[in-house]
Amino acid sequence: QNARDSLYIILNYAKNYFQQQLQQHEEGQAIGLSYFKERGFSKNILDKFELGYSLEQWDGFTKSALAKGYSADIIEKAGLLIHKEGSRTAGYDRFRGRVIFPIHSVAGKVIAFGARILKADKSQPKYLNSPETEVYHKGDVLYGVFQAKNTIRQQDACYLVEGYTDVLSLHQAGIENVVASSGTALTVEQIKLIARFTSNITILYDGDIAGVKAALRGLDLVLEEGLNVNVVLFPDGDDPDSYVRKVGAEAFKTYIQNASQDFIAFKTKTLLQEAGTDPFKRAEVISEMVQSIVKIPDAIKRQVFFQRTAEMMQVDEQMLISEGNKVIRKQQ
Ligand code: ATP
Ligand code: MN
Ligand code: MN
Ligand code: MN
Repeated sequence: QNARDSLYIILNYAKNYFQQQLQQHEEGQAIGLSYFKERGFSKNILDKFELGYSLEQWDGFTKSALAKGYSADIIEKAGLLIHKEGSRTAGYDRFRGRVIFPIHSVAGKVIAFGARILKADKSQPKYLNSPETEVYHKGDVLYGVFQAKNTIRQQDACYLVEGYTDVLSLHQAGIENVVASSGTALTVEQIKLIARFTSNITILYDGDIAGVKAALRGLDLVLEEGLNVNVVLFPDGDDPDSYVRKVGAEAFKTYIQNASQDFIAFKTKTLLQEAGTDPFKRAEVISEMVQSIVKIPDAIKRQVFFQRTAEMMQVDEQMLISEGNKVIRKQQ
């Protein structure tokens, strides 16, 4: 417990340090602040999400933390210092020359960081994240949950996006019930986290093949947890951040209302499109739909979804139900 507490303390120190570099350091202002400005993020959003900047230096942060009395060991355990085995130097900062997105726990403690390069550079990953640490388990966390939880509860609904900047842009547009999976496959723990605040999820993934695939993968998991799930698709090449910037907050809200589809409609359409006119592939779609529906724990909802699928696929509802029963029997 003590070890965890000292991690929270150094992580909070790092958050303040990066924030100060962004706001007050000449390099931070010239590079980091102007980056956020160019992307259109307001001062209010920068403050709300405690965004920061890490200088282009090998060990600027580490030196500052050591001078404050933090040990190299704890800096490394917090994921902020990379120390090469056998090296006699303390090591170098994990985050250098990047804008910084602190990741908060549900309770609002800083537990990790995401960090973005400023200019496209093929030799470096666009985003870099903290490694798994004693206080950060990637699969247990959703970006933005601390800032979103009250609104999620009030609205009894949650939007799920892919990226940090999608969360920021939606907040700026006045949509505050939004969390990000940060580009990784959804986990049961993440869904359970949302389920603490609402049972209604709308997936707003990027309008590209990867986004659609990720939405499809996330679907069954969300259904299994008994949540209601809708999906909104964006025009190809857009994500929630770019789209809201393009059309403005009001048109964006109208769009997500009109483009929102329940999971049956989304999955059926997507799979049928892939199957084309091939009758065998179309038969497989039916079986895939049945596999999803049987995951829904609530029998009444299951019934409704069998009905909807039968309608959409123009097949007999009783046939779907008996296929579903076969799947259930096999699982037992
Ligand atoms: P931006 O708008 O800043 O370019 P984005 O959020 O639209 O970023 P995507 O490429 O759509 O970026 O990726 C979605 C999310 O996936 C990111 O916000 C980030 O959390 C994660 N991600 C993307 N690229 C990487 C990477 N190279 N390493 C680790 N995580 C990544
Ligand atoms: Mn994407
Ligand atoms: Mn983007
Ligand atoms: Mn994106």
